[in-house]
Amino acid sequence: MAEPTYTPPAEEDAPRAFGWCHWHQGHSEGIRLIDVIEQGSGSGGTTFACGPCITTNGLTPFADR
Ligand SMILES: [Zn+2]
Repeated sequence: MAEPTYTPPAEEDAPRAFGWCHWHQGHSEGIRLIDVIEQGSGSGGTTFACGPCITTNGLTPFADR
């Protein structure tokens, strides 16, 4: 009897969030939260940017401030 082959899931060194990039106005992988807009009323909002846009625009991810 051959033993069942166990294949561990591929490890990723960083979580890759998929979402909307507000800078190039498109969906992208590996986006980061850039800013949180708090509003007294209404939905408020959050802005996200993908890696290339962060580099191009010199953005600072919210978590890195
Ligand atoms: Zn982008």
